[in-house]
Amino acid sequence: MIFNSPGRSIFAILAVMMSETEARQKMEEILHDLWDRGHANTTGVSVSIRLDDGNILVDQTGAGFRKCRVAAGDFLIIDLNGNLVRPAPLIPQKLAPVNTGVHLAYYKNPLAQACIHAHAPYSQVFACRGETINPYTLQSQILGEVLCIHADDADLKKEYRERKPFIEVPSGLHARPDVWYVMQKVAELTAKALEPRNHEMEKHGLAITHYQHGIFVFGRNLDEAFDNLERVEANARTIIFSRMMGQI
Ligand SMILES: [Zn+2]
Repeated sequence: MIFNSPGRSIFAILAVMMSETEARQKMEEILHDLWDRGHANTTGVSVSIRLDDGNILVDQTGAGFRKCRVAAGDFLIIDLNGNLVRPAPLIPQKLAPVNTGVHLAYYKNPLAQACIHAHAPYSQVFACRGETINPYTLQSQILGEVLCIHADDADLKKEYRERKPFIEVPSGLHARPDVWYVMQKVAELTAKALEPRNHEMEKHGLAITHYQHGIFVFGRNLDEAFDNLERVEANARTIIFSRMMGQI
């Protein structure tokens, strides 16, 4: 009996039990929820899940305008290096967004099973200010500080143009070498910033923002990642409103 397996958390068991079909349905459902809850907009959102075989199911780039209507067949499968394993059944020519590099960097922590990236409105305020989101509401205490990765998009793209390094974008990702150059840096800094807290993923997910860009939330499953995004957004909103009432 799988449920009697010693030393395996219920989350690990649920993750192992999720088939590709279930993962596709769950991603479709969560993308609709992200849209309905106002966490996603047409400037972009991405979601990924680690499958049983270790590969990653991820949504497509350029689909920001229709995330509210995304379907289970819109997702493609890549490996942990970002290379294409299987194209999306519905639109096979579309690849994963380059920010998926940040998802992949933190999937090196085996406890991370799902990631949501969004330009969510309240955490975005802190990301634009380059400010850590400190836990303020009771419900946000479990997640602790949400740090901001200070990797300036404009500075790094300028550096890319000046240095002209050879960049090979993995085959499963949208081929934008300059954006990949930036995202590799963000991915490296994210993994480094979260590494001292990797063990916390045994009990809950983690979140981090990228300067001026958006938030990345990791979970032991996609529902947990979504819940953590809600907690961060509610906390950020409460801090903003509290500051409007006076200093905190
Ligand atoms: Zn983004």
